[in-house]
Amino acid sequence: MPLTAPLRAPWHPTALLLVLALWLATLGNFPLWTALWRLPEMHGPQAVATLGLLVLVVLAATLLLLSLLVWPRWLKPAGLLLLTITASSSYFMASYGIVIDPTMATNVVQTDMGEALDLLSWPLLVTLTLGAALPGIWWWRQPVRAVGAVRLAGQQLGAGLLGLLVAVALLWTSFQDVASLMRNHKQLRYMVNPFNTVYAVGRVAVGRTTQAQKPLRPLGEDARGPAATGTDPDGAPLIVLVVGETARAANFGLGGYGRDTTPRLQALQGQGDLVYFSNVSSCGTNTQTSVPCMFSHLGRDGYADASERHENLLDVLQRAGLAVLWLDNQSGCKGVCERVPNVDTRALDFPDVCPDGQCLDEAMLRQLPQELSKLPAERRARGTVVVMHQMGSHGPAYYKRSPQALKRFLPECTSHALQECPVEHIQNAYDNSLRYTDHFLAETVQWLQAQKRPTALLYLSDHGESLGEKGLYLHGMPYRMAPKEQTQVPMLAWISKPLQQDRHWDMACLRAKAGQPWSHDNLFHTLLDVASIHTQVHVPALDILSDCARPA
Ligand SMILES: [Zn+2]
Repeated sequence: MPLTAPLRAPWHPTALLLVLALWLATLGNFPLWTALWRLPEMHGPQAVATLGLLVLVVLAATLLLLSLLVWPRWLKPAGLLLLTITASSSYFMASYGIVIDPTMATNVVQTDMGEALDLLSWPLLVTLTLGAALPGIWWWRQPVRAVGAVRLAGQQLGAGLLGLLVAVALLWTSFQDVASLMRNHKQLRYMVNPFNTVYAVGRVAVGRTTQAQKPLRPLGEDARGPAATGTDPDGAPLIVLVVGETARAANFGLGGYGRDTTPRLQALQGQGDLVYFSNVSSCGTNTQTSVPCMFSHLGRDGYADASERHENLLDVLQRAGLAVLWLDNQSGCKGVCERVPNVDTRALDFPDVCPDGQCLDEAMLRQLPQELSKLPAERRARGTVVVMHQMGSHGPAYYKRSPQALKRFLPECTSHALQECPVEHIQNAYDNSLRYTDHFLAETVQWLQAQKRPTALLYLSDHGESLGEKGLYLHGMPYRMAPKEQTQVPMLAWISKPLQQDRHWDMACLRAKAGQPWSHDNLFHTLLDVASIHTQVHVPALDILSDCARPA
């Protein structure tokens, strides 16, 4: 006889699943139920009834999902995993107003250690303790009864079927109400734990496998570049494209923002060689959508539906004989630079611009001359295109994106849990990061001006950012429901006098186009033009510079 008898008889596996479903459907979906309760149309006894009904529908559907996916051998680990996923996605939904969709799942998969550490905070640890660790310990310690495989299969599938019937019957009774709620508030469907995660991960996994099996389709096989300029490889044009990170148009001084976040760029604009485009929309609301999309010839619509794998702008430039280089101060180029020379600059040894082993964007400019000299001379003699991928205003640790000496707006939010800071402190830290981008771009122009050859700088941010407007933080909202703060991005072009003269470009013509609506779709075609590449994939109607060359 054991000294301590078990506190209770072992659970039937299906009964334990029901307990898990109850937790997930109620506490595990706390952000969903609060978001629903706060909707303007939810008031009075009708709202209580709708809410109760939806809780029951989610409970029944969760039971169905669990009964199909979770079998006794994985019962304990699967439960722990679901508790952890649910607690963390609840935390991010409640704190930042994000939702969990396939692009958010890709985002999580591609997040590196540094970015993950930037998200760690006390509120997150408390949520994980209460939502995953404590219930997880309870869950792990529960004794489970052994049930024959065939009998269990019957019982578990029976429970799942019951869940299905209950969910369908409940929805049937108030289909109109629920349908109109979901239609009017599309983000709600991405808030249902754990279905949002299961769906998103499934979509990403299927998408990756099917895309990975596709052969890479060549692009611009007819591309021709300029002829080599004599014997001096450093006499040919040098074009720098800076891909910005998380810079939103709303806070860009050049676009009319109330604070002076771009003093040095404004000075360059005053000299007449810089044009700022004030109405530019991004392809996606996150890096892993926007970056490949802006280098693709497909444009936003085509890129979203693409099932094929295509070469990109950099492949076309390289095929036309130019030297191409990608410097990355962020978490990688999302596949865009795979076939061209590329260098990670995040951990270089420049003590002044790489404090604590994490480099500011200027490290790219420091490293640039050395990397340029390594490119093949016969290519450089035709021209060079360099992409610098910034760390920019990557959040939530905005305060890390500018050096102490350049901080202009104080105090800054230094918590990784943004919602703990007053909104002004978040704006201060974010605006300082834009001031640093202004500094970085102006330094780059200054360096280009010192080169004895035709040069140009293009700058385009990958997506915007929410800084607390409408309760939203960060970025990554599904595009259809994303606010303008996340989709309107700054873009500018600085063209040196020698390049303007070589190409007979009229800057007044470009300035006249500065307020028109442009988007990431225009980068591919415009950069081909700037680099003097002739190919049938160049579409003049999408090239911002087309018609801006005066007849020679
Ligand atoms: Zn980004």
